[in-house]
Amino acid sequence: AATLHAAEVRKRYPGEPPLLALDGISLDVKPGEFVSILGPSGCGKSTFLRCIAGLEPISSGSLQADGRPISGPPDHVGMVFQRDALLEWRSIARNILLPVEFAGKPVAQYRQALRELLALTGLSDFADRYPKQLSGGMRQRAAICRALIDQPSLLLMDEPFGALDALTRDQMNAELQRIWMKTRNTVVFVTHGIAEAVFLADRVVVFSPRPGRIAEIIEIDLPRP
Ligand code: ADP
Ligand code: ADP
Repeated sequence: AATLHAAEVRKRYPGEPPLLALDGISLDVKPGEFVSILGPSGCGKSTFLRCIAGLEPISSGSLQADGRPISGPPDHVGMVFQRDALLEWRSIARNILLPVEFAGKPVAQYRQALRELLALTGLSDFADRYPKQLSGGMRQRAAICRALIDQPSLLLMDEPFGALDALTRDQMNAELQRIWMKTRNTVVFVTHGIAEAVFLADRVVVFSPRPGRIAEIIEIDLPRP
């Protein structure tokens, strides 16, 4: 599990006038910690996550994973987005194995990991199905499997259940918690849902409506199953 260190991170998008999407974010995340980033739409949550993922360069400040500056996608990051981006013409199993293929690693060595993840997420019977044949919740479970297949030390999630109905979202949150209790990755989870932020996290980082600033950091001390 990775450590994250952000100090006075600023992110400016060019424009007239330029937009300061992150305005001095400082945050340390411990290995294996589950942190939620909570705040209204437009407050900079996704921007911060994309910077952590190495998909966006920061404008100033310092952003490190395991003590090394993040520049470009770091090795051991798994990401889940609101829309699952599964490839419709690939089976669920082959979707989950996509990052392994992209990394040029031997897929055959991931059979066991694939079996375990499918079992963990209740998708064992769906490995050979195609995304179209799955419900929204099941598709997001497949997206989670894909993010976890190469054992990332850092799992980044951007409103992963935001497009699901309320009941499915509650089920998925419970399931994500169960998965995380097993994998214990460091997790940064972006949401504008207070309930899921509190349910899942060790700490909730509240971004202020004035974009790009932390309003408050709340320690959550709820009993876990
Ligand atoms: P959130 O995830 O909290 O909804 P975002 O990080 O998506 O917030 O956006 C923060 C601010 O930055 C918003 O005002 C948004 O319009 C702006 N923004 C996001 N991405 C870009 C971009 N690629 N170029 C310019 N402005 C952007
Ligand atoms: P964001 O801008 O928050 O990073 P998107 O760009 O995916 O996320 O969101 C597009 C629009 O959909 C935004 O106006 C946002 O408020 C809305 N939205 C996203 N997730 C949800 C949700 N779970 N419930 C209601 N509205 C949502």
